[in-house]
Amino acid sequence: MAKDGMTFRTLFIALSLMAAPAAAQTSNMTTTDPQRLAQSVTTLASDLFEGRAPGTIGEERTIGYLVARFEALGLEPGGPDGQWVQSVPLLHTKLGKAEALGVAQGAKTTPWTFGKEVYLSTLQPKDKVGVNNAPMVFVGHGVSAPERGWDDYKGADLKGKIAVFLINDPDFEAAKGEDAFGKFGGRTMTYYGRWTYKFEEAARRGAIGALIVHDTPGAGYGWNVVVSPGGENYDLVRPADKLTSLQVQGWVEGEAAKTLFSGAGMDLAALRSQARSKSFRPVPMKGATFSAAFPVTQEVVKSANVLARIPGAKRPDETIMYGAHWDAYGKGEPDTQGRVYRAGANDDALGIAGLFEIARAFKSGSAPDRSIVFAAWTAEERGLLGSEHYAANPVWPLDKTVANLAIDILQTAGKAKDVILVGKGQGTLEDDLARFAQKQGRVVTQESLPERGLFYRADHFSMAKRGVPVLLLMGIAGASDMVEGGRAAGQAWVDAYTGKCYHQACDAIGPDWKLDGAAQDIDLMLDIGRDLATSDRWPEWKPGSEFKAIRDKSAAVRQ
Ligand SMILES: [Zn+2]
Repeated sequence: MAKDGMTFRTLFIALSLMAAPAAAQTSNMTTTDPQRLAQSVTTLASDLFEGRAPGTIGEERTIGYLVARFEALGLEPGGPDGQWVQSVPLLHTKLGKAEALGVAQGAKTTPWTFGKEVYLSTLQPKDKVGVNNAPMVFVGHGVSAPERGWDDYKGADLKGKIAVFLINDPDFEAAKGEDAFGKFGGRTMTYYGRWTYKFEEAARRGAIGALIVHDTPGAGYGWNVVVSPGGENYDLVRPADKLTSLQVQGWVEGEAAKTLFSGAGMDLAALRSQARSKSFRPVPMKGATFSAAFPVTQEVVKSANVLARIPGAKRPDETIMYGAHWDAYGKGEPDTQGRVYRAGANDDALGIAGLFEIARAFKSGSAPDRSIVFAAWTAEERGLLGSEHYAANPVWPLDKTVANLAIDILQTAGKAKDVILVGKGQGTLEDDLARFAQKQGRVVTQESLPERGLFYRADHFSMAKRGVPVLLLMGIAGASDMVEGGRAAGQAWVDAYTGKCYHQACDAIGPDWKLDGAAQDIDLMLDIGRDLATSDRWPEWKPGSEFKAIRDKSAAVRQ
């Protein structure tokens, strides 16, 4: 990649200089310039970058452009061995046409259609995957959380079996008086509610397959979203001993699940309520077995994170990290306007544009005491893989990473009286956010649907899992109270974006974009980082956060 990357770098140095007129100080009050934001987004979302899918020519061009921009802004390489990039090899798999698929109950076999009754993918680097007449076990919510006094598994051995579980936390639908009530943040989703956690936990117990019973309220999205990847999946390239035991993993559609359970003499509705009880034990699905066999196309995709750095003048080993993801969804079917590239203008070209603005602001002042690292992650859309790779192989030690400040989607409808906080109660950085928002004359509003678990669905989470304090700005987490039009206008923007454009070709920059609100949000992240950069303060997790204990283990390093 380096060789072609160099070619593109030469091109993009010219491009970046054109895109960044000096002293374009306008009358707006933000340090972040909405016009420069728009220029960066326009470039990144242009057809030249082909929707920025990992492993494509679009990636090479994107990386060339990112490096050129950071270099032009006067930053240093922040990757391993003095490089701009950290390579991230990805496993890409796609299931072919099913050779066998269905359930059997006694003498009765029921064929299932891929995408209709069941949706599957695999993280196995193999040419064929399958399970043959594997016994199925219902494991409730599939949660093992000793610190919350909860264990759905009760030591059950899942070797050679298919784990079948419910989505979300045990307390998602719990009523007062039930054991689970309030144990997992109430309606707020915890990591235990995420499908990623459930698959990992089932694999730790030796399961060879895992199926989540889909329900729209619990998942936060419909069946159409479940099936949209079409049998594709991505993972980091892992050594053989670190591979998941799951041959296939996925979802069973809600109605098909009901039929399956009743065929095994089980009542899904009754089991749902039992699964909210502490005494719940896994229930073998009498006589029910699952079979699936698929050819797999698999390849290793060479991708990369881009890392840029401003070394601290006094305590360079302490790092404040800003992150956004460069990848988007690449090429798809033409939409009604004939657009084929799903270029993620907002998600997350705008976040990357924000990083450039923040880097520019830091370089315009005197050197910070602590170091600032800018991370442009790959493969966020494939499961937070670029940030996960970094967090597992950090270039700058995590125990001395002061904070990870992440931008992933900002509202583009203009100025707002508030900023939306994702993950309330997790850490002290939310207090910093409130303090600096107040200086802008704004307030903090909590995300509107904490049960969707957005806190676990962006790159900052890869750092949080390792204890690094995080703050995420994600404009779709709730309706902003817009200066023009109030909360209703904010809701209209969220509905329009999530309903039509999220992950579609329609996530494009247009004349309707008003970036003065996004510029204020980016200024907030800048202000928080600037304050930390000249301080010896270490943000912390709040009591009750599942990440506090992890951070506290390395407290001595920060004395
Ligand atoms: Zn995103």
